[in-house]
Amino acid sequence: MLIPDHRGLKDTSIPAWNPRTPGRTGHGADERTHLAQFVSEITGILWGGEWRAVPWLDRAQVMWNIGRRTRDQGLIVALGTHFWAANVALARFAGAGRLEPHAASLIADVSCGREVAAFAMTEENGGSNTTSITTAVDGAAGKGVTGRKRYISNVGVAAAGLVFAVERSPGAEKSVSCHLVDLSDPSVTIFPHSPPRALVSCPLADIAFSGTPSLAQVGQFGQGPFIFNAAMEFERTYMFAGLLGVADSLLCDVAAELGRARSRDPGLNGFAGGPTELADLTARSMACWELIASVAASHDSRQREYYRASAVKNLVSGLLLGSASLLARLRGARGATEPASWQQLLDGHASATFSGTTEIQNMIIARGMGITRSGGGA
Ligand SMILES: Cc1cc2nc3c(=O)[nH]c(=O)nc-3n(C[C@H](O)[C@H](O)[C@H](O)COP(=O)(O)OP(=O)(O)OC[C@H]3O[C@@H](n4cnc5c(N)ncnc54)[C@H](O)[C@@H]3O)c2cc1C
Repeated sequence: MLIPDHRGLKDTSIPAWNPRTPGRTGHGADERTHLAQFVSEITGILWGGEWRAVPWLDRAQVMWNIGRRTRDQGLIVALGTHFWAANVALARFAGAGRLEPHAASLIADVSCGREVAAFAMTEENGGSNTTSITTAVDGAAGKGVTGRKRYISNVGVAAAGLVFAVERSPGAEKSVSCHLVDLSDPSVTIFPHSPPRALVSCPLADIAFSGTPSLAQVGQFGQGPFIFNAAMEFERTYMFAGLLGVADSLLCDVAAELGRARSRDPGLNGFAGGPTELADLTARSMACWELIASVAASHDSRQREYYRASAVKNLVSGLLLGSASLLARLRGARGATEPASWQQLLDGHASATFSGTTEIQNMIIARGMGITRSGGGA
């Protein structure tokens, strides 16, 4: 098979995972515990306790294996947010030596998988424009965070939140910084987005902060955009390595549907254009994996890959939607009536939005080609 069952030489055991049944309402305590348990069990394999403890190629392979095995995009997004956005930002920028005890213990708990983390940038007026955020940090003693974040993954399970907020230093321009907060603080209010919706296994909520204490400023004053972009480079690579595993499972289902159709009625040649479309999607999948592996190799040699991570994100989300759409069509009425098919299509659509929309990734890639905001060329 062109699409393997497993990637990597090591036979890493992946914790048991039972995807939620689409269409149910609300996140029960059992489901929250199940996700927290999965995070704690996979941490040793995926994170290993620190930033460079596990080779990046191994991490990409494990994420792909989880996606291939579970087919659960919600799980992949929850893991991606925790490990490749929040944990990466904390490990690179939190400056362990200077932390207050509460911050230090929360970060240690996140790093070893005892607690789950969220990563909160998006606000009401345009998640694509990160310069428009209004959540603010009061520069006075104690640093209270006030404002509202929207559509934040893992909220409901996460104990720790990395929150991007505007701040003014005396006599300076307003600037965006990143702050660690305890999401169980009484000043935090959570507004869950209950299913039915995309990515049902990933807790998703809006959060309101009302003078919530910042336990630590992560990175320097004004370093928020840099931290955000650094985290997104890793999230877009390794979350989407997992989502490629999901897309590859869907492609295997497509091949099985076509095989069944061919044996039922050889004259149909397995749904006319189906094999051609499958071949095209499979070729794209193979190219996506090679790109992810090469970005991971760069990360292993400590090179930045901001632009190529955006390419990974766009290519894999297009592949996911293409695979889910072809599979639904090949299933005929089942594809239009079975909740699993709707969920795959909805999740595929959502992958063009979270982690920065397709249009935003295109703008980043164009910038990498020297196309600037003012319209200049290279
Ligand atoms: C399942 C899920 C999980 C999420 N998890 C998180 C999370 O953990 N943390 C977090 O901070 N956010 C999270 N988000 C929010 C996500 O990052 C935003 O939804 C996304 O950045 C888009 O923002 P928006 O929804 O406000 O859309 P908008 O920014 O309003 O965009 C709407 C449309 O306009 C287009 N558009 C906007 N600006 C431009 C432009 N300049 N040029 C061309 N087109 C443009 C966009 O591409 C899009 O098609 C999540 C979203 C989802 C769906």
